[in-house]
Amino acid sequence: MEQMQTIPGTRDILPDEAARWQWMEAKAREVLANACYQEIRTPMFEATELFARGIGEATDVVGKEMYTFSDRGDRSITLRPENTAGVARAYIQHNLQYQGLQRLWYIGPMFRYERSQEGRQRQFHQLGLECVGSADPRADAEVIALATQILKSVGLPSLKLDINSVGQREDRLQYREALVNYFTPYKDELDKDSQDRLTRNPLRILDSKDKRTGEIVRDAPSLLDYLGEESKSHFARVQALLSDLGIAYQINPRLVRGLDYYTHTAFEIQSDDLGAQATVCGGGRYDGLISELGGKPTPAVGWAMGLERLMILVEKLTVVPDKPLDFYLVSRGELAERQSLQLAQQLRETGFSVQLDLSGAAIKKQVARGDKSGASACLIIGEQEAEGQQVQLKWMATKEQNEISQSELLADIAGLRQKLSQIV
Ligand code: ATP
Ligand code: MG
Repeated sequence: MEQMQTIPGTRDILPDEAARWQWMEAKAREVLANACYQEIRTPMFEATELFARGIGEATDVVGKEMYTFSDRGDRSITLRPENTAGVARAYIQHNLQYQGLQRLWYIGPMFRYERSQEGRQRQFHQLGLECVGSADPRADAEVIALATQILKSVGLPSLKLDINSVGQREDRLQYREALVNYFTPYKDELDKDSQDRLTRNPLRILDSKDKRTGEIVRDAPSLLDYLGEESKSHFARVQALLSDLGIAYQINPRLVRGLDYYTHTAFEIQSDDLGAQATVCGGGRYDGLISELGGKPTPAVGWAMGLERLMILVEKLTVVPDKPLDFYLVSRGELAERQSLQLAQQLRETGFSVQLDLSGAAIKKQVARGDKSGASACLIIGEQEAEGQQVQLKWMATKEQNEISQSELLADIAGLRQKLSQIV
């Protein structure tokens, strides 16, 4: 049979790498818990309509990138391409909207049918958060601060933060008209996607990656000149709060979100070390989404971080500490092997990490492997030790070795723990 392979755009995370993921996730969880954000887990597939309404038909994600299929009950199902829509659905469905401000976060796989390359996959992972129920600019600043804190906690203190304001629906109506007027004379020079967007969603032309379109965009009118008083004051407050927090930012008037329910703050965090897939984290305020999905009008702000891209950076810049191994357990002979499994399990249950050698090889060989394993100590049960319920305890750093009874070993857990802590 031909060897089976992963599907294009997906990849395995093997144990070495998974350890790094766990480390990164633990850092993020700690930051989020300290800020009183709570985890929410929503299904990986939802009704297609949720994303069509919640992300918008005119976006690339809904227009070209969704994994959509009919299930056996003829429902149109889509693998989630992002999780804000799912969180908003859950928020409405479970009446969280009547329970005050909700600070929520999530982590998990997302699915988009895109051209796969380094930092761009078809199954990828996002860590995201949503602060639902506050229109206060402090909420915008809080979520941005938490994104930077998480990046800092994994050793990435100085990524580039761009912010912008997309104002409110009324501000954008006028701006949209100004944009169409500006781009129309250049219509034939725009890339194909941007030509389509000219009527459907002209704001999205601003983040085209095409070179010629980019040149034309450079002189386009700026959204900031079309903001009303309320939008201006919200944006000014967010900037002042970021400065109070010592968070460096640049204003990027080309940073837009094309949909009506996006309001006020939009932001992106990028790294120069990621090539074309530079954006690690993107987010903003979406005061219109909850009502768009049938909930009561509720202001909200959030972001999502691409974890594959984050891991590329972590791999380049950060040394992730290995979890120390306490004991390597060596045994030979039937009785010894039975005792060693028991002893391993008893030690694990009191909180030690224990690797049990299952090879049945000569004791010397097993001990050599224990040395390589990085364990602090080897526990050796040979035939003789087994008969007397004894065990050899060999400290790898000093080679100091002594024989004690197995019950004695288990009786002095505190002493063992102290000895181990002195080694590290
Ligand atoms: P891009 O412009 O790179 O396609 P996007 O605007 O589609 O990004 P968002 O929908 O804002 O991205 O998602 C937030 C983050 O999720 C991105 O900044 C990125 O880090 C990550 N991300 C998005 N799509 C992918 C993908 N296909 N593979 C890996 N990470 C992704
Ligand atoms: Mg994309």
